[in-house]
Amino acid sequence: MTDYDAVVLGAGIHGLCAAFWLKQRGVARVALLDRFGAAHESGSSHGALRITRSSYHEPALVRLAQEAHAEAWPALEQALGTSLRIRTPGVFFGPPEGPFGAYLRAAKTTEVLQQITIADARRHFPLLRFDDRDAVLLDHTAAMVLAGKTMAGLREWLCANHTDLHWHCAAERIDVGGDRLTIATSNGPFSCRSAIVATGLDLARLAPELTPPLHVLRQQVGYFDVAAAAEQQTAGTFPVWARIGRTANDFQYGLPAHEGQGIKLAQHRTEGACEAAGDAPPIDREALLQLARERLAVPASLTSTESCLYTMSPDHGLHVRTSPRSAHLVGIAACSGHGFKFGPVIGRRAAMLLPL
Ligand SMILES: Cc1cc2nc3c(=O)[nH]c(=O)nc-3n(C[C@H](O)[C@H](O)[C@H](O)COP(=O)(O)OP(=O)(O)OC[C@H]3O[C@@H](n4cnc5c(N)ncnc54)[C@H](O)[C@@H]3O)c2cc1C
Repeated sequence: MTDYDAVVLGAGIHGLCAAFWLKQRGVARVALLDRFGAAHESGSSHGALRITRSSYHEPALVRLAQEAHAEAWPALEQALGTSLRIRTPGVFFGPPEGPFGAYLRAAKTTEVLQQITIADARRHFPLLRFDDRDAVLLDHTAAMVLAGKTMAGLREWLCANHTDLHWHCAAERIDVGGDRLTIATSNGPFSCRSAIVATGLDLARLAPELTPPLHVLRQQVGYFDVAAAAEQQTAGTFPVWARIGRTANDFQYGLPAHEGQGIKLAQHRTEGACEAAGDAPPIDREALLQLARERLAVPASLTSTESCLYTMSPDHGLHVRTSPRSAHLVGIAACSGHGFKFGPVIGRRAAMLLPL
């Protein structure tokens, strides 16, 4: 049986960050397991880019974003010796009488969010389409997160810092016995003093006491060539943005073009029946083209698409919990379609929760 001080289950952004902070805490023998290979596309953390922002509907999330921007991301960038974010304006907008009203109220708790007029928004962001009755927030902390670079950089850093990465190793059960945990896996058992479980939906099977009920929703993303000058489409000029409409699923977002990939657009689907993992349905290209017609002020052609999963909790919250079975067993359920930006701070919280 392989023996460790700590084992992290799941090598998405939350598992990688948890392992990073365990090493930062000086834990010597750390293993990281994942049921798939290093750069798989069957979870929630793949793809080149993500949005980070402070604009949120709850002051607590606005504050958590500050902590991530001011402390956790810089710590990762310093350790990996490279920048993982590209600053660009952030613009968040929608009808103030709808859910966006909560964003406007939460924005009043900080100076990094500024309300601007529609006229100013249209002048600053001519490629985007704003509805006349939308309210608009400018987010001075927003950036594009280089998600692919972050994931690869963390894997490299962990290898270089004596962490054992076990790919194609599926955890099947977690047993608590005395002062040890035993993780039964498809590659044999692992014994450890502590464990952090960051396996997305499978957390509910491996340690149901560590998570609210979870379900999976599929997401479809389009990349577009837009009828505008290249420099208008890239970071620094084109924003990361989201329009928060009247219903939960009336939520659209986008990111600048980057490294040959066109402008990214998608709907943020947070409501719907569970769409268990497995084969992705065909991409609805017409829906993506319709989204471009609705939100872009210039013609656009769809050049590529991507499918991905959200693991949803009922409150869309970011959950980090200790098991009543053992203080040495911690679980992370922090996706709900917005967890990447919080990865470094959530990973740190999970690592700090363990009594070492
Ligand atoms: C299209 C899309 C766009 C997004 N945009 C943004 C954005 O702009 N900003 C933002 O902040 N967030 C965004 N998100 C959300 C964010 O990417 C996720 O919240 C985050 O990646 C979740 O990471 P995770 O580590 O919790 O889960 P995952 O990445 O799913 O990682 C879980 C890992 O556990 C492994 N695993 C599962 N079961 C087992 C098992 N039994 N044994 C071993 N390993 C197992 C899986 O293989 C997987 O690698 C987006 C998500 C999607 C899908």
